[in-house]
Amino acid sequence: MTETRLGQATNFDSWKHAYAKRAENLAVSEVRALFSVVSRPEVVSLAGGMPDVSAMDNDAIRSAFDSLMSSRPQYALQYGGGQGDLRLREQICQIMELDGVHGSVEDVMITTGSQHALELISDLFLDQGDVVLVESPSYVGAVGIFRHKEAHIEHVFTDHDGLSPDALEEAVERLKADGKRIKLLYVVPNFANPSGVTLSEERRQRVLQICRDHGILIVEDNPYGLLYFEDQPPKALRAFDGDGVVYLGSFSKILSPGLRVGYVLAPPAIREKLVLANESAILSPATFAQMLVSEYLATCDWQKQVADYRNLYRTKRDAALEAVRQYLPSLHTTEPAGGFFLWLTLPEGLNSKEMLPLAVTELVAYTPGTAFFGDGRGHENIRICFSHPTAENVKVGIHRLANVIDRQIELLETFGSSK
Ligand code: PMP
Repeated sequence: MTETRLGQATNFDSWKHAYAKRAENLAVSEVRALFSVVSRPEVVSLAGGMPDVSAMDNDAIRSAFDSLMSSRPQYALQYGGGQGDLRLREQICQIMELDGVHGSVEDVMITTGSQHALELISDLFLDQGDVVLVESPSYVGAVGIFRHKEAHIEHVFTDHDGLSPDALEEAVERLKADGKRIKLLYVVPNFANPSGVTLSEERRQRVLQICRDHGILIVEDNPYGLLYFEDQPPKALRAFDGDGVVYLGSFSKILSPGLRVGYVLAPPAIREKLVLANESAILSPATFAQMLVSEYLATCDWQKQVADYRNLYRTKRDAALEAVRQYLPSLHTTEPAGGFFLWLTLPEGLNSKEMLPLAVTELVAYTPGTAFFGDGRGHENIRICFSHPTAENVKVGIHRLANVIDRQIELLETFGSSK
């Protein structure tokens, strides 16, 4: 492929022969590919899973910044340790308590967002062909990493109560009988991305037992757990098993994704390897960002900010569900009790990926369900992210989407194809 830049032709294939084999698995995610379209102001984007940072108390961040720069600039501007800032790790232990997790500060490591934690864990555990069990659907960013590591991604049946333990057991037995090595179960138990569903309390126990029985390490990814709209979700899986669960958290959804601060609570047995992997990759997590988060937590009413976010996102969730009921009454939707996402199932015969260009011409964007599967499924699904637009625009976007779907159905009835 060539493109003219500053009068010179660039051959984007010129180093293709030199790429490592696994680079073939690096592809633009369907979410990323949408970003350029989505940033046009006339498009209502229900696509990228972004928090509404306009609701953040900027004065609080500014005061944390001033306080940090007047008290400890010589630390904030310097390299730090590979495991991360000690005070922040202590504060993280307190935050995890809210989820029922009693972690030791020694087992906490700071990462560059929880995406980075997923990368480190995958790098540590996955050889080519190793199996990672995931929900159906699963988080696009995790699927991308597992694919890059050339893992076998096995989707396990998931319904409104989350991952099915029966299906998990069946998948484990089948894969073992096929001689496969099952390494990890990756699960987003609270208000999952993209489905919005929450793993029930009873299922959590069974999932833990199955993984314990078969020596499968659980990766519990919990960026949305504090953003509940009604009741708090059940206790974390990690609360019941300190040796078999790696727990991931992030400040991206409750503070700011721009700071890129996430964390891992590792089982003691793997902590040292994880820290070595972190050091090898980045020397130390960004000291300045860590200390700013720590100062913010120490000096500002962060729990009130999270409560404000809960109220804001509840209003947007309500707007989204109301609009789906009003404009798309025949569609099935999940009804999330927290987080950012609805998962819609289209009428039979429609294809969410093929429909997207038409949606964009109608000034609405969404993420096709195919982004959330490693095996090509998801054509009949759409992920709606209600967290970023205003509640009013969430409704406008879903109304536009309904018009697009109506037109697709008409086309289907006339020509027998969704194109
Ligand atoms: N896990 C899940 C389930 C997510 O939805 C996201 C962000 N969309 C991440 C991990 C990564 O978040 P971050 O790196 O910003 O912490």
